Amino acid sequence: MSEAGMVIRRMAPVGRYALRVDWSDGHESIVALAGLRLRCTCRACQAGGIPPPATTELDRAEALGDASLYLRWRDGHESFFFQPELRGLCRCAYCVAEPERPITG
Ligand SMILES: [Zn+2]
Ligand SMILES: [Zn+2]
Repeated sequence: MSEAGMVIRRMAPVGRYALRVDWSDGHESIVALAGLRLRCTCRACQAGGIPPPATTELDRAEALGDASLYLRWRDGHESFFFQPELRGLCRCAYCVAEPERPITG
C-alpha cells in the first residue's frame, strides 16, 4: 500500500476549530476538531458513554512518534488517533472529491 510509510511531518492548530497535518507524502490535511472529537477512539467514547462535548477546543496537540496523534481537550478528555483514521478525516478538496478511494482500502 502506498500509504504504508506515510508519517506525520508536522501538525499545528488552525484557528480554534481545525488542525492542519502535513504528511510525509506532501499531503496537507485540514481536519475539523469537532469531527475528531466525535470520532474519538477511546473506550468511553466508543461505548457511547460520553455525551457530545460542550467544547471542542484543544488544550494540547502532539504527534506521538511518526504516525499517531495525541489530543487533549479543554474539558480534560484525551483522544488518540492513528495515521489511517486521521487521514480518513481529511476534508481537503482532494480527499473529499475522491470518495471511491478511501485511504484505508
Ligand atoms: Zn474519547
Ligand atoms: Zn486531504
